[in-house]
Amino acid sequence: MLQDKDMTMASATDFYAHLRTELQGIRDAGLYKAERIIATPQGAEVRTTDGREVINLCANNYLGLSSHPQVIEAAHEALRTHGYGLSSVRFICGTQDLHKSLEARLARFLGTEDTILYAAAFDANGGLFEPLLGEDDAIISDELNHASIIDGIRLCKAKRFRYKHNDMADLARCLQEAEAAGARFKLVFTDGVFSMDGTVAKLAEMRELCDQHGALLGIDECHASGFMGATGRGTHEHRGVFGKVDIITGTLGKALGGASGGFTSGKKEVIELLRQRSRPYLFSNTVAPSIVGASIAVLDLLEASTALRDKLADNTAYFREAIQAAGFEIKPGDHAIVPIMVYDAVVAQKLAARLLELGVYVVGFFFPVVPKGQARIRVQMSAAHDRHHLERAVAAFAQAGRELGLVK
Ligand SMILES: *Cc1c(COP(=O)(O)O)cnc(C)c1O
Repeated sequence: MLQDKDMTMASATDFYAHLRTELQGIRDAGLYKAERIIATPQGAEVRTTDGREVINLCANNYLGLSSHPQVIEAAHEALRTHGYGLSSVRFICGTQDLHKSLEARLARFLGTEDTILYAAAFDANGGLFEPLLGEDDAIISDELNHASIIDGIRLCKAKRFRYKHNDMADLARCLQEAEAAGARFKLVFTDGVFSMDGTVAKLAEMRELCDQHGALLGIDECHASGFMGATGRGTHEHRGVFGKVDIITGTLGKALGGASGGFTSGKKEVIELLRQRSRPYLFSNTVAPSIVGASIAVLDLLEASTALRDKLADNTAYFREAIQAAGFEIKPGDHAIVPIMVYDAVVAQKLAARLLELGVYVVGFFFPVVPKGQARIRVQMSAAHDRHHLERAVAAFAQAGRELGLVK
């Protein structure tokens, strides 16, 4: 016994050697993710540490609020009036009037009853399922759902069903199977917008199917809150089911200001139980006052005017048209995420590298982030972009694309 154990026992030195081998494996597979370092605030143009100004087409800064003067001013103001941090979780001494205001404002904006804040949307999803559902219940999710949803579901004892991406017939099959398995409560959960393709969940059909089967419907609105729909409320507004989605999770770290923080929004019973039982809420620090104050200012801006989401929609329509006219193939749709299809991972990396030389900051996405043979450059439009940024970007794409033989 003891001998066997000795044979397999390895030292800490072996452990670190093992990690170096793993890292080399990632490099050898061409999958190593290097981080470029930016020396300016986030914006339409950023400067990298080597001193170059580049047009940024890969931030989730959809509404250009990451460096908006009113947002920065509100953060300063909250810092002055409410301090730097709370040094506490919410239920001990981490709840300020600002936190309660933001939760109420988010509920109003999203058309729900109440909202609970988290340190990140990853935590909102991670702490959503386990407190609400148990082994007698079923969670039915889209196969392309975000990693945080997948992890959150793993932490929950409910039976799991997965349907093919955005496939309503397959969702119906899952609902029937969940019923056949005797599930008590059924929750269907999907990304509102899928980040790699920019596809939008078919929420009207999903709502109808859920109603037929007595199921709840939940959506993750990280790539939607603030700009999808006529007044930017999200995918539920865009799809005509505003007020008819049971649970909404989202982030403050993308369109809604870009700092950090997440939330879950829904009926008051849901939110109340999450405050009692959701582990990332109970055991992680409260969101910093400056972020909370700035997020309230973001909602003030968005409720006062649709100018920013309108500009984003204009930019998106312009870019989708212009990049296709330059000879590139994109995934169809109308979301600010525009996947420019290259298919080959090596070519995608070459294209991204050449574009950076030409002053356009983009990132190539390839396996395992997207399926094998589906490599792409995913660009994201922003209300911070002016037409000249997009014209220069399209011209750079055309030049790099010609050099690589991708377009004529
Ligand atoms: C970005 C993202 C998250 C994580 O948001 P954070 O607030 O950064 O943790 C969760 N879900 C989806 C769909 C996302 O795109």
